[in-house]
Amino acid sequence: MTQQPQVIRTPKDMHALSAQVRSAGKRIALVPTMGALHAGHLSLIDYARTQADFLVVSIFVNPLQFDRDADLDAYPRTWEADSALCAEHGVDAIYAPTATAMYPQGFATKVSVAGLGQGLCGAHRPGHFDGVTTVVAKLFGAVMPQVAVFGQKDYQQLKILQRMTDDLNFAIEVIGRPTLREADGLAMSSRNVHLSPEERGQALCLRRALDKARELAQGGERDVETIKTAAAQVVGGASLARLEYLEVVDADNLAPLTRLDGLARMALAVWLGTTRLIDNDALN
Ligand code: AMP
Repeated sequence: MTQQPQVIRTPKDMHALSAQVRSAGKRIALVPTMGALHAGHLSLIDYARTQADFLVVSIFVNPLQFDRDADLDAYPRTWEADSALCAEHGVDAIYAPTATAMYPQGFATKVSVAGLGQGLCGAHRPGHFDGVTTVVAKLFGAVMPQVAVFGQKDYQQLKILQRMTDDLNFAIEVIGRPTLREADGLAMSSRNVHLSPEERGQALCLRRALDKARELAQGGERDVETIKTAAAQVVGGASLARLEYLEVVDADNLAPLTRLDGLARMALAVWLGTTRLIDNDALN
């Protein structure tokens, strides 16, 4: 029989539970999510389960990190399925605070990491990463985990959160895990449910653009413009796709590159109709 996770609705109750767990000498892992759980989330949950005695999954659709109201309103919410999956995967507690519990009247703090959030998604989603860092700092404060697990699917987010954790001296190990993909290569995402069958077919252009870039890099091409042009052409070949950005950056500090010398990562964002998809991968 699977054990139902406890459901915690306020920062105060989460804090009290975590204090109790920690005083029993147990190690806490946190996997932050916005719900609509899929196999990608579950891979983080299963990994986190191996890292701690007490596993908390947070489910909170954070209004602060949405730059478009329509995206926030349309974001899938699947509480019943999510809590059943958490039970099956051995989650001890689901932290699902309400928006008013997280941001009560008078809430006035913003956590912002300079630099890393400027390019890539940050250039196209004003305020997004400040919303992410603010909410994750709050989740860290309430859950007090020793380890937190995030996906490399949101690579820029991962780098920003690692920087924040270091800069603010949170005693938390922030771990990034590989992107889980559908059998045909599309990165799993809660937003994939919005794709029409035609858009779903063409969504493969992200993975194909990454493959093209990787193939060139591994074949010895060092000129980033050449790689970017070839990858952008792959996206251009999908008639329903509109490329928002495609960039090759230093895998560590996310600075745009002109030549491939050290470790590089390509990242891109593509619109298919009203759905925005992102993906990234190492080039070398
Ligand atoms: P989200 O619910 O979209 O905010 O994502 C919650 C966490 O799951 C983040 O750390 C994401 O990077 C991670 N994640 C999302 N999609 C995937 C995926 N396909 N594979 C692995 N991790 C993922």
